[in-house]
Amino acid sequence: MNNPHRFRQFLAGFTRLVAEAGHDEPRMLVEGGKLLAALVSHDDWLPEACAQPHPQYYQQYLLHCDPLERFSVVSFVWGPGQKTPVHDHTVWGLIGMMRGAELCRRFELAASGTPMRAGAQEKLLPGQVDHVSPATGDIHEVANAFADQVSISIHVYGANIGAVRRHVFDATSSAIKDFVSGYSSPMLPNFWDRSAEVRAAMGK
Ligand code: FE
Repeated sequence: MNNPHRFRQFLAGFTRLVAEAGHDEPRMLVEGGKLLAALVSHDDWLPEACAQPHPQYYQQYLLHCDPLERFSVVSFVWGPGQKTPVHDHTVWGLIGMMRGAELCRRFELAASGTPMRAGAQEKLLPGQVDHVSPATGDIHEVANAFADQVSISIHVYGANIGAVRRHVFDATSSAIKDFVSGYSSPMLPNFWDRSAEVRAAMGK
């Protein structure tokens, strides 16, 4: 991380937006999506500790949770070939690609015992933003597009996502199971040490 200012600026913008338009989901997705696109167009601000893959599991590092839990920001770190189960979110979500690439596929629930309807596979490239929403399609499966390199995307959700009760699905039978994702680390990164710039302004 050499540019924590970029993330602080994003948080300031997103906090202002959620205060103004938090109950207007279409506006959150459009305007929040622009803020996120600006953030992930530059890969110079994510702390190394929040960019570490795990050999077995994709990682979800909490970068920030709004104190009123109106939104949370998470770095998703995909090891080679790693993928999610088919899952939902129950709140709006923005997915911004920053490093590598992701493959996403949307699903629709079908009658119990029958296969879910799968959409086309889409590829998300650095700088691009996708979204999920209970209003327009909230079920998907996401995978690292690479079998030989790490990919990283930055997600913003309309809640403290690690503590949200949501669901995973069996695509072959439409069976539903509850799940709560949690986070991969008990620590939050420190984006707030601005002492160097203050000292520099003092001429020290
Ligand atoms: Fe998801």
